[in-house]
Amino acid sequence: MKRKTKRRYMLIILLITALASSAFLVSPLTELSESVSRDKHPNGSLPCGHADDASRLNKAKVNEIWEIPVDHENPEAQIAELLERARKEGLKVSIAGAKHSMGGHTIYPGGIVINTTPWKHMELDTKRNLLKVEAGALWEDIIPYLNTHGKSVSIMQSNNSFSVGGSISVNCHGWQYDRPPIASSVESFRIMLADGSIKHCCREQNQELFSLALGGYGLFGIILDVELRVVANETYRLEQYIVPVNKSLGTFDNKIKNQPGLEMVYARMNIVPDDLLGEVILNAFYRMPQSEGSDIGVSDKLLEPSLIELRRAVFRGSAESYFGKKLRWNAETKLQPSLKSKSISRNQLLNESVEVFENRTTDTTDILHEYFVPRHRAASFVNAMRRILERHEPNLLNVTVRSVNRDDDTFLRYADRQMIAFVMLYVQEKTHEGEDEMRALTRDLINASLRHKGRYYLPYRLHATHKQFHRAYPQASEFFALKRKYDPEQLFQNQFYLKYGSIDETL
Ligand SMILES: Cc1cc2nc3c(=O)[nH]c(=O)nc-3n(C[C@H](O)[C@H](O)[C@H](O)COP(=O)(O)OP(=O)(O)OC[C@H]3O[C@@H](n4cnc5c(N)ncnc54)[C@H](O)[C@@H]3O)c2cc1C
Repeated sequence: MKRKTKRRYMLIILLITALASSAFLVSPLTELSESVSRDKHPNGSLPCGHADDASRLNKAKVNEIWEIPVDHENPEAQIAELLERARKEGLKVSIAGAKHSMGGHTIYPGGIVINTTPWKHMELDTKRNLLKVEAGALWEDIIPYLNTHGKSVSIMQSNNSFSVGGSISVNCHGWQYDRPPIASSVESFRIMLADGSIKHCCREQNQELFSLALGGYGLFGIILDVELRVVANETYRLEQYIVPVNKSLGTFDNKIKNQPGLEMVYARMNIVPDDLLGEVILNAFYRMPQSEGSDIGVSDKLLEPSLIELRRAVFRGSAESYFGKKLRWNAETKLQPSLKSKSISRNQLLNESVEVFENRTTDTTDILHEYFVPRHRAASFVNAMRRILERHEPNLLNVTVRSVNRDDDTFLRYADRQMIAFVMLYVQEKTHEGEDEMRALTRDLINASLRHKGRYYLPYRLHATHKQFHRAYPQASEFFALKRKYDPEQLFQNQFYLKYGSIDETL
């Protein structure tokens, strides 16, 4: 039997064993199979003339969805013409990449949505280690291209489904160890402003606009193309530690951080209600020495991600039942460590789509939250988080933890010092009650993060009050004033700006 087939076979046997033994303890398999069957409904398509985002809660009628033309000689002139037309017709313009933001950041009701995703040409400058790429390109386009050159993305999210323009406009971060958010890997970009003029921005030229448009949520102009620093594609080995939460920082300090070659780290917390946030799996990826196989050649192909259906079934099965959550934690802590590949290339690791775990039900949706707190406040924040979760009892699917270094590049920065980031995924009912409960939960968690000298991440639902938003981002009033300096007619707008920016409430 081939090694890969054998591993798959073993995993299935072990999973069935775990399933059977868990069934002794908790309620029936039917609960799990029901939740998995609910997952089979495809996402409904949007009615013509409407836009929405990954939350599936922001459906709005728009005047037009305009695709950036790729087969015309001068697409930039056409974008400028579109902006001119929008101004004359009194229409607002919003900008969309892969639309994985969740608060209508890509939508202005009644406005024009520019879909940037057809725009994805790229070219690698091997001498300067820079990738010049059009803003609509997704990481899933970029990683295979870089792979053929032995290179990899320097900083990105934990999945490959996002556009470059969307990623730098929220200033995303990932689990690359000891790194600030993505803005630190941007060498330069070109942006078209509301008057149709194009500015080249870098740390030496148009620096103010550079710092505003990175993490600027599409409010300053259309980012056309970007020069991104790239790194070598190398082979990593994984080490995992499963520890009680109060030992996690100590384990990281004593066993992980000083080992040579540490490149990526993230932790996952137990979400089973009877040990909520009690245990943590620490995952650390180390660069392998050349002799042990890190000399990846340009011919090394990216493989299709393995066991997608099984992983998806286990993940989605945890969406609605205690039993499913328990099964998943058992699978991840007891089975997976022995089955994980010993080595994996950086590109392979980064090249995973959100499709593996996305919600396909019609009546619920998955909602992300993220909170950043300084490291010395992290333990206390976890206790506060646990109390809030016990009070609200949401359907929690995932909590991952990463470290983000200080951001020295963006204006509306969330990491003004090194931060520990807590990323939480919930299943929410698509009803008014579901929305009310999620709003209340979000506001409580934001208050906890603020009490811990932290803040929350902006690309998700717009549940924060004005007061919470301005406490988390005290520079926001100046940010919006500068938006109006660069875009006096406020041509570029979206729901984030409508909620927090257009009426600039300083408190
Ligand atoms: C499942 C999931 C996992 C995630 N994981 C992470 C993670 O690990 N780390 C992290 O930091 N974030 C994460 N996020 C958040 C994600 O990084 C942001 O939502 C990001 O914006 C997604 O990129 P996008 O192409 O979908 O952007 P979009 O949602 O399309 O756009 C986001 C913002 O960027 C603006 N924009 C897009 N393109 C341009 C352009 N060319 N010029 C100017 N403005 C533009 C839009 O107007 C909008 O305001 C995750 C989100 C989801 C749904």
